[in-house]
Amino acid sequence: MAEKWVYFFGDGKAEGNAKMKELLGGKGANLAEMSKLGITVPPGFTITTEVCTHFMNTNGRFPKTLKGQVKTALEKVEKVMGSRFGDARNPLLFSVRSGARVSMPGMMETVLNIGLNEDTISGLVAKSGSERFVYDAYRRLIMMYSDVVMEKTAGIEPPEEKGIRQQLEKEMQKIKEGKGVKNDTQLDVNDLKKLVNIFKKKVRQVLKKDFPDDPYDQLWGAISAVFQSWNGKRAVSYRRIENIPADWGTAVNVQIMVFGNSGENSATGVAFTRDPATGENRFYGEFLVNAQGEDVVAGIRTPQAINAVSKTETSKHLPSLEELMPKPYNQLAKIRTKLEKHYRDMQDIEFTIQDGELFMLQTRVGKRNGTAAIRMAVEMCEEGLISQKEAILRVRPEQLDELLHPMLDPKLEKKAGKLAGGLPAGPGGGIGQIVFTADDAEALAHKGKKVILVRDETSPEDVHGMRAAQAILTAKGGMTSHAALVARGWGKCCIVGCGALNISASKKVLSVDGKKLHEGDWLSLNGTKGVVYEGKVGLLPADPGKNVHYKKLMSWADKLRKLNIRTNADNPQDAKLARNFGAEGIGLTRTEHMFFEPDRITSMREMILADDEAGRRKALKKLLPLQKKDFIGIFKAMDGLPVTIRTLDPPLHEFLPNDQASQKEMAKRLGVSVEAIRAKVQTLHELNPMLGHRGCRLGITYPEITAMQVQAIMEAACSVAKRGVKVYPEIMIPLVGTKAELENQRELAVDVAEKVIKKAGVRVNYLVGTMIEIPRAAITADKIAEVADFFSFGTNDLTQMTFGFSRDDAAKFLPDYLSKKILSAEPFQTLDQEGVGQLVDMGIRRGRSTRPDLKVGICGEHGGDPSSIGFCHRVGMNYVSCSPFRVPIARLAAAQAAVRKA
Ligand code: ADP
Ligand code: MG
Ligand code: MG
Repeated sequence: MAEKWVYFFGDGKAEGNAKMKELLGGKGANLAEMSKLGITVPPGFTITTEVCTHFMNTNGRFPKTLKGQVKTALEKVEKVMGSRFGDARNPLLFSVRSGARVSMPGMMETVLNIGLNEDTISGLVAKSGSERFVYDAYRRLIMMYSDVVMEKTAGIEPPEEKGIRQQLEKEMQKIKEGKGVKNDTQLDVNDLKKLVNIFKKKVRQVLKKDFPDDPYDQLWGAISAVFQSWNGKRAVSYRRIENIPADWGTAVNVQIMVFGNSGENSATGVAFTRDPATGENRFYGEFLVNAQGEDVVAGIRTPQAINAVSKTETSKHLPSLEELMPKPYNQLAKIRTKLEKHYRDMQDIEFTIQDGELFMLQTRVGKRNGTAAIRMAVEMCEEGLISQKEAILRVRPEQLDELLHPMLDPKLEKKAGKLAGGLPAGPGGGIGQIVFTADDAEALAHKGKKVILVRDETSPEDVHGMRAAQAILTAKGGMTSHAALVARGWGKCCIVGCGALNISASKKVLSVDGKKLHEGDWLSLNGTKGVVYEGKVGLLPADPGKNVHYKKLMSWADKLRKLNIRTNADNPQDAKLARNFGAEGIGLTRTEHMFFEPDRITSMREMILADDEAGRRKALKKLLPLQKKDFIGIFKAMDGLPVTIRTLDPPLHEFLPNDQASQKEMAKRLGVSVEAIRAKVQTLHELNPMLGHRGCRLGITYPEITAMQVQAIMEAACSVAKRGVKVYPEIMIPLVGTKAELENQRELAVDVAEKVIKKAGVRVNYLVGTMIEIPRAAITADKIAEVADFFSFGTNDLTQMTFGFSRDDAAKFLPDYLSKKILSAEPFQTLDQEGVGQLVDMGIRRGRSTRPDLKVGICGEHGGDPSSIGFCHRVGMNYVSCSPFRVPIARLAAAQAAVRKA
């Protein structure tokens, strides 16, 4: 481990830089970078993430040389500032801030105003000339420190509403009420002095300890608390959701305090260099006069807009920063440009103005929703800030999901009963039943209910419920509140700052203008506009084709990608939908679904019950025209594009009813005895159907089934070809494990196909290929390829059989495998590249060794998973196939794979 634990920044210099995020955390690295750029940052130092790891591994001990290094850095800061920490006459105060490699909004703890005590108060009063300000800072220190360091870090878990912070807040509320005032800025110095004494007493009474008076005790207490908060409940649950490794650790930043709460000429705020909701290139932010730190985010007072374009319904009557403090605003606007040019991406910044002087406290790449991400990427490319390839990498494929997601139907929305308005914090529409706690949201969603989480405001403790909900609605908070940040990151429908709502979470009621709504009542949210409706308004599917930035980005992606993108579709509607999303063919049509419709299942059952081939053929004859009709529809929808059709795959028992009533009904319909049906069900019963009589095994025992299906496919193809449709059928035989199996089915298929072609008198080119989904097939792929025109990796079954996991039963143990880190990802969602991937890679190489032009694709669930798509690109597949809604995601993921590899 490196011996340097502490990195200084400030005074236009820094020992670190923006590239050192792993060591210094995002916040520390960027504070160093800004300092180097000549942007005014309060000086300080960063204690590295390695110290956190050390701290975790040694049960809370620090490296031996840390104290000395902190002392040296502290002295350097004191020298720059010309004053000293803990000095009674001219004291310095510090903030102690967490900062991991990636931002975890609100997940860890920050303590401000460290160093205030009985001695330093008078010095700071003399220095600042404001007693009120000093006592305000002191009461904040007591609140934050007792909460974060003395309670949370000490592992104390108080009952609901009984946390020290809430108890102190209640005391402050009492004083406010006693005075008849609403805002904390209306408390005067005597109120605050009183409050500080009450706070100290309360801390002693509740936590059985005195609030520490020694500045160094405060400092080290806070540093330990930040490190410890890395393993706090909130941080752990956030890491789990966001897949952040536990061993990264957080850094700690110790930094000189600047005071946004030192009077009417001071302020604190947060801003985005571009609008994070729409992506528009305009400076967007909020601030509060005479406030400190998290006041803006916490939604205690209504934040004001930094400029005219940032004004919202709630802030439009308040003056902007530009109007109130034009000089620092203009400086801020210049810094905005400087930061964007330097970082070449949208930045999320924190600033504080102390007596008219501007300080930057943080910059990081800002979170944005999908719509905004697309717009920014495209516009930044057009502005010459980034290249087209970078633009492609700027949008996470999953973010496209939002554009593909439904909106409230505007026609129905017009007629719907508007309940209230708020800030549009997360796009799209959301419909669900009201719940008031995160736990309820999770529990009900688990039961398949659609819920909307309604809270005064959300906190990091709520993330699991926010995740489970269709949408989030809060009464308080601005566009930079916790709910807004999280929802924006996920692209989830969310409305915040909906001031008209009166929420009682304990009574589970929500009242708006005298109207009462209860848990379970329905709400509909338009998160794009920020409007809440009572009841269920219909949803409309998305239409991304109308978004010019999306179209541009996708056209760049299409140019860059090497993989073709197909879709899995069993009917013409899905085929059309996928084609609109950019699908270049069908990679999998499952024919069995076509047999389940009421008019068909009877003929199917007749076939299954038949005693001999003649009986089966008779029943199959009835199915033939129906299948043919389906194929005609699909071929027409896919005019000009290839369509892969898989022959019957599931075991036959799936088509028979198991319960008595249905068996009776079936007997009546088919005119046979119930006993006969029961006997058949008995015969077909299998101990392990996944490995039973299914796939090509059916076609080998009952060749007439394959024959009928091929006939339907080819008759459909010839008939549409005659009408000018360009048709490319690809017949796919499932579950092949040996060359002989495929040979058998292939001969049969070719024989039927040629007959149909001859009779129709029109040449239709077709392929016969196979799925590779049994490990043996991958291993003997060179032999199989001799009789296959194409391979399509069925990675669902291949994963089942490679792991020996039954997908339908894996839910019993996979969660444990994931939580115990035995597996790092759900193998049915993300392809296991290390194991299953080797079989895929080998299958492709061996297959192409005997048939160099072998066409290869994938048709499992993995075909729509971005990281699996990257793998498919690397092993040289020709295409991936996924469900229609994932087609755009796959297009972008394929382009990213190509860009990354190049
Ligand atoms: P988070 O990661 O939760 O945003 P921060 O470390 O950024 O936590 O701090 C929380 C709040 O405290 C922010 O609003 C920040 O601007 C404010 N703050 C942190 N350090 C200072 C400082 N040295 N002077 C003034 N305000 C500060
Ligand atoms: Mg924090
Ligand atoms: Mg911050």
